[in-house]
Amino acid sequence: MTNVYFLGTGGAFSAGHRSNLALLIESGEFRMLVETGPVIMHQLTRTGIQVMDIEHVFISHAHGDHALGFPMFALNRLGIDASAPAFHVYASAGAIASLKALWEIAYTGFDIQRLNIHWHPLPDQESRQTRLTARIILQTAPVPHPPNTPTLGARWDFEDGPSIAFITDTYPNDTTVTLAQGCDLLIHEASFSATLQPGYDANVHFHSTAQQAGEIARQAGAKRLALVHLGPMIGRHPDVLIEEARAGTDLEVFVLDDGGLLQIKKSG
Ligand SMILES: [Zn+2]
Repeated sequence: MTNVYFLGTGGAFSAGHRSNLALLIESGEFRMLVETGPVIMHQLTRTGIQVMDIEHVFISHAHGDHALGFPMFALNRLGIDASAPAFHVYASAGAIASLKALWEIAYTGFDIQRLNIHWHPLPDQESRQTRLTARIILQTAPVPHPPNTPTLGARWDFEDGPSIAFITDTYPNDTTVTLAQGCDLLIHEASFSATLQPGYDANVHFHSTAQQAGEIARQAGAKRLALVHLGPMIGRHPDVLIEEARAGTDLEVFVLDDGGLLQIKKSG
Protein backbone atom coordinates (compact mmCIF):
# COMPACT_ATOMS: atom_id res chain seq x y z
CA MET A 1 0.00 0.00 0.00
CA THR A 2 1.29 3.45 -0.89
CA ASN A 3 0.02 6.48 1.02
CA VAL A 4 -0.39 9.89 -0.53
CA TYR A 5 -0.94 12.66 2.01
CA PHE A 6 -2.46 15.79 0.50
CA LEU A 7 -0.74 18.27 2.81
CA GLY A 8 -2.03 21.24 0.83
CA THR A 9 -4.43 21.32 -2.12
CA GLY A 10 -4.57 25.02 -3.08
CA GLY A 11 -2.65 27.05 -5.63
CA ALA A 12 -0.62 30.24 -5.23
CA PHE A 13 -3.70 32.26 -4.20
CA SER A 14 -4.35 30.22 -1.13
CA ALA A 15 -5.73 32.66 1.44
CA GLY A 16 -8.56 30.97 3.30
CA HIS A 17 -9.78 27.48 2.61
CA ARG A 18 -6.81 25.61 1.10
CA SER A 19 -3.06 25.99 1.63
CA ASN A 20 -0.38 25.77 -1.07
CA LEU A 21 0.01 22.48 -2.90
CA ALA A 22 2.20 19.90 -1.14
CA LEU A 23 2.15 16.09 -1.01
CA LEU A 24 3.88 13.40 0.94
CA ILE A 25 4.27 10.01 -0.74
CA GLU A 26 4.96 7.17 1.66
CA SER A 27 5.64 3.49 1.01
CA GLY A 28 7.13 1.52 3.90
CA GLU A 29 10.22 3.41 5.05
CA PHE A 30 10.26 5.55 1.90
CA ARG A 31 8.96 9.10 2.25
CA MET A 32 9.15 11.79 -0.41
CA LEU A 33 7.95 15.31 0.14
CA VAL A 34 6.59 16.92 -3.02
CA GLU A 35 6.86 20.75 -3.03
CA THR A 36 7.97 22.98 -0.16
CA GLY A 37 5.71 26.04 -0.27
CA PRO A 38 5.74 28.83 2.34
CA VAL A 39 3.69 26.93 4.95
CA ILE A 40 5.32 23.53 4.55
CA MET A 41 6.41 23.24 8.19
CA HIS A 42 2.87 23.99 9.39
CA GLN A 43 1.44 21.45 6.93
CA LEU A 44 3.85 18.76 8.16
CA THR A 45 3.22 19.57 11.82
CA ARG A 46 -0.52 19.07 11.32
CA THR A 47 -0.01 15.51 10.05
CA GLY A 48 2.28 14.42 12.87
CA ILE A 49 4.85 13.19 10.31
CA GLN A 50 8.35 13.68 11.66
CA VAL A 51 10.50 15.87 9.46
CA MET A 52 13.53 13.65 10.22
CA ASP A 53 11.71 10.72 8.60
CA ILE A 54 11.64 12.44 5.21
CA GLU A 55 14.65 11.47 3.14
CA HIS A 56 13.58 12.64 -0.33
CA VAL A 57 12.20 15.91 -1.70
CA PHE A 58 10.89 16.68 -5.19
CA ILE A 59 10.17 20.23 -6.31
CA SER A 60 8.41 20.78 -9.67
CA HIS A 61 9.58 24.36 -10.18
CA ALA A 62 10.82 27.37 -8.28
CA HIS A 63 7.66 29.50 -8.04
CA GLY A 64 7.03 30.74 -4.51
CA ASP A 65 3.97 28.60 -3.78
CA HIS A 66 6.11 25.50 -4.49
CA ALA A 67 9.51 26.50 -3.11
CA LEU A 68 9.46 29.37 -0.61
CA GLY A 69 9.39 27.12 2.45
CA PHE A 70 12.52 25.25 1.43
CA PRO A 71 14.94 27.02 3.80
CA MET A 72 12.69 26.29 6.77
CA PHE A 73 12.25 22.65 5.77
CA ALA A 74 16.03 22.30 5.27
CA LEU A 75 16.79 23.96 8.61
CA ASN A 76 14.39 21.72 10.51
CA ARG A 77 15.40 18.62 8.57
CA LEU A 78 19.10 19.09 9.21
CA GLY A 79 18.66 19.69 12.92
CA ILE A 80 20.13 22.23 15.27
CA ASP A 81 23.75 21.33 14.51
CA ALA A 82 23.15 20.05 10.96
CA SER A 83 24.09 16.59 12.17
CA ALA A 84 20.99 14.72 10.97
CA PRO A 85 21.35 12.16 8.17
CA ALA A 86 21.49 13.63 4.68
CA PHE A 87 18.42 14.17 2.56
CA HIS A 88 18.03 14.19 -1.21
CA VAL A 89 16.58 16.98 -3.33
CA TYR A 90 15.36 16.30 -6.90
CA ALA A 91 14.56 19.30 -9.10
CA SER A 92 15.70 21.01 -12.29
CA ALA A 93 19.15 22.62 -12.16
CA GLY A 94 17.47 26.04 -12.33
CA ALA A 95 15.13 25.25 -9.45
CA ILE A 96 18.05 23.95 -7.37
CA ALA A 97 19.89 27.25 -7.96
CA SER A 98 16.77 29.06 -6.70
CA LEU A 99 16.54 26.83 -3.59
CA LYS A 100 20.19 27.56 -2.78
CA ALA A 101 19.58 31.30 -3.28
CA LEU A 102 16.57 31.14 -0.93
CA TRP A 103 18.78 29.53 1.70
CA GLU A 104 21.46 32.23 1.24
CA ILE A 105 18.85 34.98 1.72
CA ALA A 106 17.24 33.29 4.72
CA TYR A 107 20.43 32.29 6.53
CA THR A 108 23.25 34.53 5.35
CA GLY A 109 26.61 33.21 6.41
CA PHE A 110 25.58 29.58 6.82
CA ASP A 111 27.34 28.02 3.84
CA ILE A 112 24.91 25.66 2.13
CA GLN A 113 27.84 23.64 0.72
CA ARG A 114 28.47 22.45 4.26
CA LEU A 115 24.92 21.25 4.76
CA ASN A 116 24.14 17.58 4.45
CA ILE A 117 22.01 17.83 1.30
CA HIS A 118 22.46 15.65 -1.78
CA TRP A 119 21.35 17.64 -4.82
CA HIS A 120 20.06 15.75 -7.87
CA PRO A 121 19.72 18.18 -10.80
CA LEU A 122 17.26 16.89 -13.40
CA PRO A 123 17.15 17.97 -17.07
CA ASP A 124 14.48 20.53 -17.94
CA GLN A 125 14.53 19.83 -21.69
CA GLU A 126 14.12 16.06 -21.77
CA SER A 127 12.74 13.19 -19.73
CA ARG A 128 14.89 11.27 -17.27
CA GLN A 129 14.56 8.12 -15.16
CA THR A 130 16.18 8.22 -11.74
CA ARG A 131 16.34 5.27 -9.38
CA LEU A 132 15.40 6.45 -5.88
CA THR A 133 15.67 3.09 -4.12
CA ALA A 134 16.01 -0.56 -5.19
CA ARG A 135 12.26 -0.65 -5.80
CA ILE A 136 11.26 2.90 -6.75
CA ILE A 137 11.93 4.76 -10.00
CA LEU A 138 11.24 8.47 -10.49
CA GLN A 139 10.57 9.60 -14.03
CA THR A 140 10.54 13.31 -14.81
CA ALA A 141 9.74 15.31 -17.93
CA PRO A 142 9.39 19.02 -18.74
CA VAL A 143 5.86 20.38 -19.04
CA PRO A 144 5.07 23.84 -20.46
CA HIS A 145 4.66 26.61 -17.87
CA PRO A 146 5.16 29.93 -19.66
CA PRO A 147 6.53 32.48 -19.38
CA ASN A 148 9.75 30.55 -19.29
CA THR A 149 9.58 28.68 -16.00
CA PRO A 150 11.19 25.24 -16.28
CA THR A 151 8.65 22.90 -14.70
CA LEU A 152 8.85 19.13 -14.27
CA GLY A 153 6.07 16.58 -14.24
CA ALA A 154 6.86 13.43 -12.27
CA ARG A 155 5.94 9.78 -12.06
CA TRP A 156 6.82 7.24 -9.37
CA ASP A 157 6.79 3.54 -10.23
CA PHE A 158 6.86 1.24 -7.21
CA GLU A 159 8.00 -2.32 -7.88
CA ASP A 160 5.06 -4.62 -7.11
CA GLY A 161 3.14 -1.47 -6.20
CA PRO A 162 1.26 1.38 -7.84
CA SER A 163 2.40 4.08 -10.24
CA ILE A 164 1.62 7.68 -9.38
CA ALA A 165 1.93 10.65 -11.73
CA PHE A 166 2.03 14.29 -10.63
CA ILE A 167 1.40 17.22 -12.98
CA THR A 168 1.02 20.82 -11.87
CA ASP A 169 1.27 24.36 -13.20
CA THR A 170 0.68 23.49 -16.82
CA TYR A 171 -2.07 23.17 -19.42
CA PRO A 172 -2.94 20.03 -21.40
CA ASN A 173 0.07 18.70 -23.31
CA ASP A 174 1.37 15.46 -24.84
CA THR A 175 4.17 15.03 -22.28
CA THR A 176 1.61 14.73 -19.50
CA VAL A 177 -0.30 12.03 -21.39
CA THR A 178 2.93 10.07 -21.94
CA LEU A 179 4.11 10.45 -18.35
CA ALA A 180 0.73 9.46 -16.86
CA GLN A 181 0.17 6.50 -19.23
CA GLY A 182 -1.75 3.75 -17.43
CA CYS A 183 -0.88 5.06 -13.96
CA ASP A 184 -2.88 4.03 -10.90
CA LEU A 185 -3.26 7.62 -9.73
CA LEU A 186 -2.85 10.86 -11.64
CA ILE A 187 -2.54 13.92 -9.40
CA HIS A 188 -3.28 16.84 -11.71
CA GLU A 189 -3.76 20.51 -11.20
CA ALA A 190 -7.12 22.22 -11.70
CA SER A 191 -6.55 25.92 -11.17
CA PHE A 192 -9.83 26.72 -12.89
CA SER A 193 -13.25 25.24 -13.47
CA ALA A 194 -15.00 25.25 -16.85
CA THR A 195 -18.33 24.91 -14.98
CA LEU A 196 -17.84 27.62 -12.34
CA GLN A 197 -15.83 29.95 -14.56
CA PRO A 198 -17.38 29.58 -18.01
CA GLY A 199 -15.53 31.52 -20.66
CA TYR A 200 -12.34 31.45 -18.65
CA ASP A 201 -9.49 30.44 -20.94
CA ALA A 202 -7.14 28.42 -18.75
CA ASN A 203 -4.59 28.24 -21.58
CA VAL A 204 -4.13 31.98 -21.41
CA HIS A 205 -3.17 31.61 -17.74
CA PHE A 206 -0.92 28.60 -18.32
CA HIS A 207 -3.03 26.34 -16.12
CA SER A 208 -5.78 23.72 -16.48
CA THR A 209 -9.47 23.32 -15.71
CA ALA A 210 -10.94 20.29 -13.93
CA GLN A 211 -12.50 19.35 -17.28
CA GLN A 212 -9.10 19.36 -18.98
CA ALA A 213 -7.57 17.33 -16.16
CA GLY A 214 -10.32 14.74 -16.65
CA GLU A 215 -9.66 14.61 -20.42
CA ILE A 216 -5.94 14.13 -19.80
CA ALA A 217 -6.64 11.30 -17.33
CA ARG A 218 -8.84 9.52 -19.89
CA GLN A 219 -6.30 10.01 -22.71
CA ALA A 220 -3.57 8.57 -20.48
CA GLY A 221 -5.74 5.70 -19.27
CA ALA A 222 -5.12 6.73 -15.65
CA LYS A 223 -7.10 4.59 -13.19
CA ARG A 224 -7.87 7.45 -10.80
CA LEU A 225 -7.56 11.23 -10.79
CA ALA A 226 -6.98 13.58 -7.86
CA LEU A 227 -7.38 17.32 -8.46
CA VAL A 228 -5.01 19.72 -6.70
CA HIS A 229 -3.66 23.31 -6.97
CA LEU A 230 -7.29 24.42 -6.80
CA GLY A 231 -7.92 28.09 -7.42
CA PRO A 232 -9.50 30.17 -4.62
CA MET A 233 -12.79 30.61 -6.52
CA ILE A 234 -13.38 26.89 -7.02
CA GLY A 235 -11.83 25.10 -4.03
CA ARG A 236 -15.06 25.15 -2.00
CA HIS A 237 -16.97 23.20 -4.63
CA PRO A 238 -15.41 19.72 -4.77
CA ASP A 239 -18.63 18.07 -6.03
CA VAL A 240 -18.78 20.40 -9.03
CA LEU A 241 -15.12 19.75 -9.86
CA ILE A 242 -15.56 15.98 -9.60
CA GLU A 243 -18.60 16.07 -11.92
CA GLU A 244 -16.73 18.29 -14.35
CA ALA A 245 -13.67 16.05 -14.49
CA ARG A 246 -15.74 12.86 -14.83
CA ALA A 247 -17.77 14.33 -17.72
CA GLY A 248 -20.28 11.51 -17.56
CA THR A 249 -17.65 8.74 -17.56
CA ASP A 250 -16.90 6.33 -14.72
CA LEU A 251 -13.47 7.86 -14.02
CA GLU A 252 -12.81 7.85 -10.28
CA VAL A 253 -12.05 11.45 -9.25
CA PHE A 254 -11.00 12.76 -5.84
CA VAL A 255 -10.90 16.28 -4.42
CA LEU A 256 -9.45 16.00 -0.94
CA ASP A 257 -9.26 18.60 1.79
CA ASP A 258 -5.89 19.65 3.17
CA GLY A 259 -4.53 16.83 5.31
CA GLY A 260 -6.47 14.16 3.37
CA LEU A 261 -4.98 10.73 2.67
CA LEU A 262 -5.34 8.39 -0.29
CA GLN A 263 -4.15 4.81 -0.04
CA ILE A 264 -3.26 3.46 -3.46
CA LYS A 265 -2.73 -0.14 -4.52
CA LYS A 266 -1.60 -1.38 -7.89
CA SER A 267 -4.73 -1.87 -9.97
CA GLY A 268 -5.32 -5.44 -11.07
ZN1 LIG B 1 1.71 26.91 -8.47
